[in-house]
Amino acid sequence: MPLIQVTYSPSNRSCCRNCYEKIAENTIRIGYYVKKGGGYTNIQWYHEKCFTKANLWGVTDIELTGLEELSGQDRLRVKEKFEAIQSKKNPVKF
Ligand SMILES: [Zn+2]
Repeated sequence: MPLIQVTYSPSNRSCCRNCYEKIAENTIRIGYYVKKGGGYTNIQWYHEKCFTKANLWGVTDIELTGLEELSGQDRLRVKEKFEAIQSKKNPVKF
């Protein structure tokens, strides 16, 4: 099951895989774990706004983690975002 992690960026060193801009410190970033050959797992980071349904093409059963770490308003907004993204084909487990 692909895992998606939402977290506040601890630094401005990670780059968004969509727009290739830096992700500013203390802003929300969305991490998408990608399985590589041999079980190695890579994580790709995205700006909150840059992560869309298109990133989940062909993916089923997404697990979202880290919501509880966000402050109230941010948590609600991110949850709504994933509720909008999810479909029968892409159920999201919160
Ligand atoms: Zn971006």
